[in-house]
Amino acid sequence: MGQMQRQSLIAYGAPLRQTVVECPEPKGSEVLVRIEHCGVCHSDLHMQDGYFRLGGDKRLDVTGGRILPFTLGHEIAGRVVRAGAQAIDATPDRQVAVYPWIGCGDCPACKEGEENICAAPRHLGVAVDGGFATHVLVPHPRYLLDYAPLPPTLAGAYMCSGLTAYAALKRLANRARRGPVLLIGLGGVGMMGLALARVMFPHLPLATDIDLAKRGAAEKEGIAVFDPTDPATRKAVLAASAGGVYGVCDFVGSESSLAFATSVLAKGGKVVVTGLLGGSFTTATAMFPLKAMSIEGTLTGTLAEARELLSLARTGKIPPIPIRQRPLSEAQAALDDLRAGKIVGRIVLTV
Ligand SMILES: [Zn+2]
Ligand SMILES: [Zn+2]
Repeated sequence: MGQMQRQSLIAYGAPLRQTVVECPEPKGSEVLVRIEHCGVCHSDLHMQDGYFRLGGDKRLDVTGGRILPFTLGHEIAGRVVRAGAQAIDATPDRQVAVYPWIGCGDCPACKEGEENICAAPRHLGVAVDGGFATHVLVPHPRYLLDYAPLPPTLAGAYMCSGLTAYAALKRLANRARRGPVLLIGLGGVGMMGLALARVMFPHLPLATDIDLAKRGAAEKEGIAVFDPTDPATRKAVLAASAGGVYGVCDFVGSESSLAFATSVLAKGGKVVVTGLLGGSFTTATAMFPLKAMSIEGTLTGTLAEARELLSLARTGKIPPIPIRQRPLSEAQAALDDLRAGKIVGRIVLTV
């Protein structure tokens, strides 16, 4: 069977540490995957902290139900090692991306195919040991997705940042026909959103980011991109959208980002929030009917959406996002870099 190495969460708020355990043996429909790459994600930072900031001094505790040491990481790509007797199509050495948002299979959400919002989730790297490791146990081969000819370093990111951006943008499809959508925040998810919006929608998107380097990266691709801290930006976005945008994707999820999003909406406009930065937001309730405004939240995406996204990506239509590779042993340093917030594109651990 052999051993597996992991970069483990051993205490909340403490650095990850290497742990070594016996490799699990797949039973029934389970599949053991040898990890080649695992992306590092903002939600890993929240999990390491043990809480999400909700605004003011309020925190959402996320330490429940997790046995330490625990393996974070949910943007996993690797190869099948071996599988239980009931696992069909899990041929050894098959190169796969792992859909991590695995549900109980039994609750009303799972029955509608929305395992990502399951009431009793088994999400990899969140509730069940994930990808900052040499191996991961996947409960069923249906969560294994072929990704060739996409680069292996990018495959895992499609399961999280890519999927989050795709599922959010899909919810703006009918708004996007009326004019350019606005993308707020060009971090890992936002950059994916930018790449996807170019192929999914008829108009080039507009974008904002507080960081000069991130604005520069989008500008180079011909995108009209604005500094949200500049008081002139609201008027500039209204001018660039002929009076207001019908669709906004808020990849930041803060008080100021959502306030800005709703301030540039046209009548009938919709904001989809995927960001988890924190803070709280107030608005006049009359604005909902008066502006026929919608605000919707999404959390990653379904297995079906993951398949749709990979099919789209495998046609080669989505430009690749910048990737920085680091060895698995530098997982903590990678998290520290992400926390410092100066990374353009994605950090991927290479095992
Ligand atoms: Zn992620
Ligand atoms: Zn469920």
